[in-house]
Amino acid sequence: MTTYRTLLDEQCRAALRQILGGFGIFVGSGLLASALDAPLLLLVGILGFAIAGYGIVRVQFFGTILCPGCSGNLGLTWMSRGPRGSFPSDVKFCSFCGTSLDTEVERRSQPTT
Ligand SMILES: [Zn+2]
Repeated sequence: MTTYRTLLDEQCRAALRQILGGFGIFVGSGLLASALDAPLLLLVGILGFAIAGYGIVRVQFFGTILCPGCSGNLGLTWMSRGPRGSFPSDVKFCSFCGTSLDTEVERRSQPTT
C-alpha cells in the first residue's frame, strides 16, 4: 500500500542521507586531517560542509520534500519537527491542499517498451 506519507518518507530519507553524508564527510575529514597531520584534507571537510548546507537549504527553500498531490513544499514542516527518516506522524494533512497524507495513491511504474 502506497500512501502520500510513504512517498514523503522516501523523500525525507533521501534528504537526510544527503545532509548526514555531508556532515559525515566534514567530521571524518577533520579527524583524518588531525590524525594524519594533513591540513589539505580540511578542504574535503569544507566540501562536506557545503554538501550538508546545500541539502538543508534545498529542503527549506527549493522543495526537496514535496506533497505528491499539489507539489507544495513540506520541507519546513519536516525540518521544524527535527529531521528524521520519516515525515512527522502527527501531521495528518498537507498544509497546502488539505489532502490526507494517508490517502492511497498508485505508484507510477516504469513505462514498458
Ligand atoms: Zn498538497
